[in-house]
Amino acid sequence: MTRFIFVTGGVVSSLGKGIATASIGRLLRSRGLNVRLQKLDPYINVDADTMNPFQHGEAFVTDDGAVTDLDLGHYERFTNIALTRHSSVTTGSVYRDVIAAERRGDYDGATVQTIPHVTNAIKDRIRLVAKTGKNERKVDVVVAEVGGTVGDIEGLPFLEAIRQMRADVGLRNVMYIHVTLVPGVGPWDEQKTKPTQHSVIKLREIGIHPDMLICRSKRQMSDDMLRKISLFCDVPVCAVIPSVDTSTVYDVPLKLEVAGVAEQIVKRFGLRCDPPDLDAWQRIVRRITSNTRRVHVAVVGKYVDNSDAYISIREALHHAAAAADCNVMITWVNSRGLRSSDIAKAVNGANAMVVAPGFGVDGIEGKLHAVQHARVTGLPFLGICLGMQMAVVEFARNVAGIPDAESGEVDPATPNPVVHIMPEQRLRGNRGGTMRLGSRECQLAANSLASRLYGVETIRERHRHRYEVNNDYRARLIGAGMDCSGTSPDGKFVEIVEIPGHPFFIGCQFHPEFQSRPDLPHPLFVGLVKAALDRAEREAAGDAGRTHTAAAPADGVSNV
Ligand code: GLN
Repeated sequence: MTRFIFVTGGVVSSLGKGIATASIGRLLRSRGLNVRLQKLDPYINVDADTMNPFQHGEAFVTDDGAVTDLDLGHYERFTNIALTRHSSVTTGSVYRDVIAAERRGDYDGATVQTIPHVTNAIKDRIRLVAKTGKNERKVDVVVAEVGGTVGDIEGLPFLEAIRQMRADVGLRNVMYIHVTLVPGVGPWDEQKTKPTQHSVIKLREIGIHPDMLICRSKRQMSDDMLRKISLFCDVPVCAVIPSVDTSTVYDVPLKLEVAGVAEQIVKRFGLRCDPPDLDAWQRIVRRITSNTRRVHVAVVGKYVDNSDAYISIREALHHAAAAADCNVMITWVNSRGLRSSDIAKAVNGANAMVVAPGFGVDGIEGKLHAVQHARVTGLPFLGICLGMQMAVVEFARNVAGIPDAESGEVDPATPNPVVHIMPEQRLRGNRGGTMRLGSRECQLAANSLASRLYGVETIRERHRHRYEVNNDYRARLIGAGMDCSGTSPDGKFVEIVEIPGHPFFIGCQFHPEFQSRPDLPHPLFVGLVKAALDRAEREAAGDAGRTHTAAAPADGVSNV
């Protein structure tokens, strides 16, 4: 019998419900339990594909090509379980299923209603994530997070569905965990329990009585406060879990472990499992928090005003830094309006640069300037997706002698589309769900930087893009000194480019950041951070930039 934990949130959004859910997943997994995680998102979008990163932060991509909420990134990073599309449920996708069923006549003429049809469809999706194949081990626990905040209108069908689950699978097999805020107010920053009380009242109005409260606060809460919350919210005091801000999110599982969260879950469900094994995790947290060596990486992108827009890149840099025994300081550089003359100042002495993924024309010129700066000055460089495409355009213009080279995304009528829309994407009209998505195989060229970093010949990485390096220009790029060191197995798609002779210059059409884990840092990010450390050391010794020989410009083309 699979057990279900439902995580809800109250008071305000951005409380770290996703981190709490991911942490619970980690703690159960560290006891040898088979865990599945799921996000129930009340928004009406079918998936996160068309959502604006300025508003909603990063869209995370699973192996099977689902474009999901960024919380799935936390789930994967904390548990190291590769999730599938079944782990992401939105109102839009539920209604799509319900309407399709109605059109097929599955409801036998019934009036289709929120209860039971929509709630049943939601429960089907929750059960689906617990399904396993014939020879697979059964799922012990599903941890499902309901997005948004209790009280949101669009969240009601989801809350009703998880309420019904209690009757469907039995009280002893369901647990409700509510994450709330205990704010400090006034000149003495007095901690207040009232918002928590009200949000629990709201939850109880819907028929859900929380079994555990995770109370987020800026500073420690007194035992009196915890007892007060226990009394007013009718939750045993041992299940009122204080959760104070930590310096790294990876510390949260350890804190929740000490607070007894997993023990209580295991006891409540009567699960038989191993003692927790968190040694490796503890070592990672120690490495992340205690390093004194530091590298400085500039990340250039246009969504930098939303700190969550590049969350997987940020985390991947931290994982890599921990592996390279240092800390990373990130300077976020807005590519919008970024002029060539501003770059040196904007990157602010960074030891490496990442040019981030993105969509649309806005901020693209700034990315080109950034790439050029990295190439010319020998600054270690990693270009991801659009960042890689800009590396190709920049190289074509300034090294390969194609001054009007352009991406078809910027100018569909350009005479020299070195990056162009893939023929199969051209035929698909819609915007949502029509990109080259999900995990693909890639073959690495022997003796390339990529093959040295990965240490294997074949890799699998996750994609999300419409545009691609135009093969008509491949020979010219290679002739001018750019290596296409990673291609699809059929050789049709360029997946990785690099510039031999540069200390570290690599661009990838895929998103390596989605597969980086604290305990499995991604080779491309580790390579970048190590190259940054090298550069920092050489800079300290006073000779950075002197040793590299970037590809020579083609005749008559200025390098700057
Ligand atoms: N806009 C580019 C494309 O569609 C790059 C996408 C990305 O960076 N994820 O190909």
